[in-house]
Amino acid sequence: MYHKYDAVIVGAGGAGLMAALYASRGVNTAVLSKLYPTRSHTGTAQGGMGAALGNHEEDSPEWHTFDTIKGSDYLADQDAVKIMCYEAVDIVYELEHMGLPFNRTEEGRIAQRPFGGHTNNVTNQPVRRACYAADRTGHMILQTLYQQCIKHNVTFFDEFHVLDLIVEDGVTRGVVAVEIATGELHVFHAKAVLFATGGWGKVWSVTSNAHTLTGDGPAIALRRGIPLEDMEFFQFHPTGIYKMGILITEGVRGEGGVLINSGGERFMDSYAPTIKDLASRDVVSRAIYLEVRAGRGVDGKDYVHLDVRPETVNHYFDRDGIKNPDGTPRRITAEDIEAKLPDIADFTRTYLGVDPVSQPVPVQPTAHYAMGGIPTDVWGRVVMDEKNTAMPGLYAAGEVACVSVHGANRLGTNSLLDINVFGKRSGIDMVRFCQENDLLPLPKEPEAFAREQLEALRGQQNGRERAADIRREMQDVMMDYVGVFREEEGIKQAIDKLKELQERYQRMALDDKGRRFNTDVLEAWELGALLEMAEVTAVAALARTESRGGHYREDYSKRDDENWLRHSLAWRKDGNIELGCKPVTITDYEPKERVY
Ligand SMILES: Cc1cc2nc3c(=O)[nH]c(=O)nc-3n(C[C@H](O)[C@H](O)[C@H](O)COP(=O)(O)OP(=O)(O)OC[C@H]3O[C@@H](n4cnc5c(N)ncnc54)[C@H](O)[C@@H]3O)c2cc1C
Repeated sequence: MYHKYDAVIVGAGGAGLMAALYASRGVNTAVLSKLYPTRSHTGTAQGGMGAALGNHEEDSPEWHTFDTIKGSDYLADQDAVKIMCYEAVDIVYELEHMGLPFNRTEEGRIAQRPFGGHTNNVTNQPVRRACYAADRTGHMILQTLYQQCIKHNVTFFDEFHVLDLIVEDGVTRGVVAVEIATGELHVFHAKAVLFATGGWGKVWSVTSNAHTLTGDGPAIALRRGIPLEDMEFFQFHPTGIYKMGILITEGVRGEGGVLINSGGERFMDSYAPTIKDLASRDVVSRAIYLEVRAGRGVDGKDYVHLDVRPETVNHYFDRDGIKNPDGTPRRITAEDIEAKLPDIADFTRTYLGVDPVSQPVPVQPTAHYAMGGIPTDVWGRVVMDEKNTAMPGLYAAGEVACVSVHGANRLGTNSLLDINVFGKRSGIDMVRFCQENDLLPLPKEPEAFAREQLEALRGQQNGRERAADIRREMQDVMMDYVGVFREEEGIKQAIDKLKELQERYQRMALDDKGRRFNTDVLEAWELGALLEMAEVTAVAALARTESRGGHYREDYSKRDDENWLRHSLAWRKDGNIELGCKPVTITDYEPKERVY
């Protein structure tokens, strides 16, 4: 079936919906999503959205800018970071005016909580910058934006799985999607296309990411000759529920929760003496691994405890002299935990049988967030090379994009911010682009490549390999060798294994050969995307012989600005991954060593 729109947005998470709201004000816009929109991963975000409102104490967008650059280990592009942190304040109020039910201070202002890496730049003490709606901030953002889209008559194609990007003469012409309910292929002819498909945490075995976060957008882009940027940087969040990976928000530590080893010791005291448990995620994740390696994991296993029991938290508030703004000693009560972290309390009770009010929670690092992705400029325009040449009509925003505002490591609360700020900017620029350009014709048989891919998966008559085995082996090898700690031999082993898995992928057996709701074939297709993401990550990780942010090489444990203060770019050429690089934009802040 054939459809024609000015702008097509792939993905209905926060980035896609914000872009849709803005694009639909000016041009004919459709949103395609493989999930029903409100099931997008944005809905699971817990802790908050960063903006220097200064509702509790002094704060400024410039401090937010510096914290983000420092947190990124100086790999973020500083012009982009500045835009994000300065536009943060207005976009929070914009969401508030749309009806987002933020928690409130006693005076009725938007309440804010501390989060890792967000500081008062003068005192270096944590500053309350994360705007939140209990521990359901993402849920509220997603619901609010979706309601606005419905109110403004945005056209949705729910449960349409995009398989290919149509490109002719280097210009975007649309996308091809399969309607999940019928198995029918649809061609969407458009002037501008935005990828807002989210992350790919499913590359790793322990992850906070939803089942559907499989890197479809970047895999499609890579297959169409578009490079991916900084793919070696993938964030491991320090506090996933042991073995399950389900996220426990950093907001727990923001409220005073502390990490404790088998000896009952608050070990972040020694790794980050000033900011302690609120150090950047890369630092805390490595500290947990090092504690485990030193035999201080709880019960001799590979986890530690996250302790938010009021008696523990209040003890450390007293020890460290932490006070309320009015000078009284800070306190947390069981009621505070229930009120500010209701979902977390619910998760640990349900999944672990652990009541966080009276027991510590077993946690381990969990694959969480893609810093890298499809390279874009500050208007969401996809850029194709070292010189930032834009590809006409193609946009990316949200976790799938690399602007780059997070560099080598993202600060908590900056993704909900990123998706809104750059979703909005992309929507605005798509309108401009569509108004200035004509709709160019489609190539012949635009759906041919997508059809071939599905038929190849359905038609592997003699296949024996199971998708589930390939997925599990990929996830294990990536967790072991391309996770929190990396070194040359291990990464090479992972690359060899991935080659073997790609080869076995060609010989898979699928049970369901039908057309309607054939999730078997779509999950197999997603596995192909995951294998692409895994390979690019491993190849880029092998090349980067330094340690920076989320990428830690045991054989090159220092940051090496002389050789590596640059973004990596990766292309798929003749079946292989080819690497290049481009400079980091540095405006106000010269790289310094990160000290905590
Ligand atoms: C558990 C958890 C907690 C988090 N907490 C926070 C937090 O407190 N603060 C913070 O700043 N960040 C947080 N993050 C990160 C943040 O939530 C995400 O980075 C962000 O929401 C991503 O939004 P997005 O719009 O880019 O993508 P998503 O919300 O992931 O949406 C992706 C969309 O793409 C669609 N899609 C994907 N592939 C296809 C395809 N092939 N065809 C059609 N549609 C497709 C999906 O249907 C979906 O609609 C958290 C993340 C997780 C996993």
